[in-house]
Amino acid sequence: MPADVRTRIAGIGISSPGPVDPWRGVVVQTPNMGPDFVNVPIAPELGSRLGLPAFLERDTNVAALGEMAFGAARDCLDFIYLTVSTGVGGAIVSEGRIFHGPDGTAGELGHTPVAMEGQCGCGGTGHLEAFMGGASLAKAARAATTAGASPFLSERAAHKGLDALEARDVAEGEDAGDAACREIMERGRRAFAIACVGFVDALNPSRIVVGGAISDAQGERLLGPARAEVSATAFRTPRSRVQIVHAELGADVGLAGAHPLVIARLGDPAWRPRSTRSRRGRATPPVSANG
Ligand SMILES: [Zn+2]
Repeated sequence: MPADVRTRIAGIGISSPGPVDPWRGVVVQTPNMGPDFVNVPIAPELGSRLGLPAFLERDTNVAALGEMAFGAARDCLDFIYLTVSTGVGGAIVSEGRIFHGPDGTAGELGHTPVAMEGQCGCGGTGHLEAFMGGASLAKAARAATTAGASPFLSERAAHKGLDALEARDVAEGEDAGDAACREIMERGRRAFAIACVGFVDALNPSRIVVGGAISDAQGERLLGPARAEVSATAFRTPRSRVQIVHAELGADVGLAGAHPLVIARLGDPAWRPRSTRSRRGRATPPVSANG
């Protein structure tokens, strides 16, 4: 990179699907990039080649930072971010900082259990994503079609093929008055609403910011029932504070979040030492980690 360009850039912010190790800048594993893309030290590699500090963060955490800097979480220090698209992702921001947990995996809110059955794409059971993620909605569409339960989906499958059915077909089936499609969508919205009650009770967020393609398409149909469920059943004190709102930044949220990611890391002297402590804490018993 030319020196005159480098001097005008503070650092590189990298957004990646998880899991990632944000302290070492390593993409641990990301299925979409193929089986060989495992433990890739992308931030140190990019940083040394470009001669700039480089910071890696999970895509949903970057999105949360973007919404906090420029979008629906402006002036908000305690919020959760949810993205409802092919999967359901999340991030927890506490006192203006991403909450990582000791391994950086915290905030996987789409894998919060909301039921005791229902196979999730991650292999777990009863997770929110198993009901409201796009891949799960598509799977439910195929099952309803195979069972002959949905005239609408059967017609779609005859046109485009059973395997090509997607979440959008279920949503359109609901709009067209198909009972099975309505049931699938209502179950998903109900799972989302129940999960929001859990987030409010457990985390006391000021805001729940919801983005992602399915959320954008569903709009108030998704958020309205969640607000109603939270105000009816969540704990009184946190429910009176929380606002459940739409994300504002759309598909470019990762780009918007790279800037606050770099600024936050560069301005955080505790970032490196804290990471050293937490790595050591995992390798040794807690008692000696304190001594
Ligand atoms: Zn899961």
